[in-house]
Amino acid sequence: MSSTDVLDPQAVLDGVPTGLWIGGESVAASDGGTFEVINPATEEPVATVADATVDDARRALDIATAVAGEWSATAPRERGEILRRAYQLVADRADDLAMLMTLELGRALPDSVAEVRYGNEFLRWFAEEAVRIGGRYTTSPAGTGRIVVSHAPVGPSLAITPWNFPLAMGTRKIGPALAAGNVMLVKPAHETPLTMLALAEVFAEAGLPGGVLTVLPTTNAREVSSSIITDDRIRKISFTGSTPVGRNLLAQAAERVQRTSMELGGNAPFLVFDDADVDKAVEGAFMAKMRNGGEACTAANRFLVQSGVLEEFTEKLIAKMSAVRMGAGYEEGVTLGPLVTQAQRDKVADAVESAVAHGGRVRLGGKAPEGKGYFYPATVIDQVDAYAPVTRGEIFGPVAVISSFETEEEAIKAANSTEYGLAAYFFTRDLDRSLRVAAALDSGMVGVNRGVISDVAAPFGGVKQSGIGREGGSEGIEEYLTVKYVALS
Ligand code: NAD
Repeated sequence: MSSTDVLDPQAVLDGVPTGLWIGGESVAASDGGTFEVINPATEEPVATVADATVDDARRALDIATAVAGEWSATAPRERGEILRRAYQLVADRADDLAMLMTLELGRALPDSVAEVRYGNEFLRWFAEEAVRIGGRYTTSPAGTGRIVVSHAPVGPSLAITPWNFPLAMGTRKIGPALAAGNVMLVKPAHETPLTMLALAEVFAEAGLPGGVLTVLPTTNAREVSSSIITDDRIRKISFTGSTPVGRNLLAQAAERVQRTSMELGGNAPFLVFDDADVDKAVEGAFMAKMRNGGEACTAANRFLVQSGVLEEFTEKLIAKMSAVRMGAGYEEGVTLGPLVTQAQRDKVADAVESAVAHGGRVRLGGKAPEGKGYFYPATVIDQVDAYAPVTRGEIFGPVAVISSFETEEEAIKAANSTEYGLAAYFFTRDLDRSLRVAAALDSGMVGVNRGVISDVAAPFGGVKQSGIGREGGSEGIEEYLTVKYVALS
């Protein structure tokens, strides 16, 4: 962080391409359209970006598919080396990229610095995976032939990414797609297109051939995406975002039987048992709640605390959350930036109102400040029924909602009582209970005595309506490969 506190935001913005990234260059939209990117801390525009049309999407797809064959035939080592050079360039520009993310997303600079580090690891990881795409050979049990199994690139892919992690949600898809030999078109969230455009330029400098990676910022997400999905040449759709949009994309993909990866919404329960180390649980709770200002799909959304440690946990969490410093994300010492948009702040305020209307007691925060910027303070609400409406949806903000429970069975039932199943956390010092509860939670990922679970080497993803497929780990590249079986005599 040494140099980030002296970075000039305008100088960072001046270096970012603001056109569509098509064919390895930054170009204007076909109709000349643009839109503004807003700084959530000031509500002022920070950049004007080209607004892709359906015609742009078609042209980009033509260019991408024209180079797809050549790219898939590139030596795995060469693909790996391009990814590795991109990793190095991102590492060299980490401070600028972090500042850029904070300017378009709002959140505190330390969170952006952490995302650059985390997101960039996917480029390094998949640079290494590119040369490990394997296959197998065997003879048929009847001795009648030989079986050769190989993995081929799935084909031209579309990635649609959300605003809450503008870099990592891209690199988690672009890394494995390119490593596996696919061309990829990315439609970033219109709230935060700048980070992805900066990344596209990094890839060009790293030696990626033009057309292999496309970035299409647009305010017309539905039509631009549909025009790509309804093209037979697209063979894979990878989406991170909300469950309703995911359902819609799955329905569209069904028409052409395209492969899909869906990283959708979460509603993570965070369980604290009487036998937990309460101080560690509070540390974990703070991380699970406040990382990214609460704007994370893995964010702890419901705290379920056993009655014996309820008050101690609540008071210590309040003390920890009280120490948060709210302000523009790029100001020194700030640990909680604004939310991304007014709509997002309204959603968080509605969640707090709903919790209170159903008997919740505000112990900290609970009121948006006056003035410019989409700020919402660190908030703790206790005495909330474990099944109250506020516990049914994603809060996506710095609001901790606490309910109590008496028995393990009761806690698991409440934890599993939603349509989501992305992440879950629990704290206990009992080994038997650790194994039992980890197995019983309906969740793609479980943190035991930990408040952060994302790891480049682990398969990230959910069950139930939190999604299909995994990103990261050795599983991540499989999403971009198809299996081909050749029978030999
Ligand atoms: P969103 O679903 O509104 O938007 C995500 C992306 O989809 C954006 O790029 C948006 O422009 C695009 N989009 C919106 N409507 C579309 C349509 N009809 N057709 C095609 N594209 C469309 O979600 P959001 O508000 O940007 O992001 C927050 C959501 O993302 C939360 O639900 C969060 O849990 C989820 N998320 C999940 C993960 C995960 O890995 N499971 C990670 C981060 C965020």
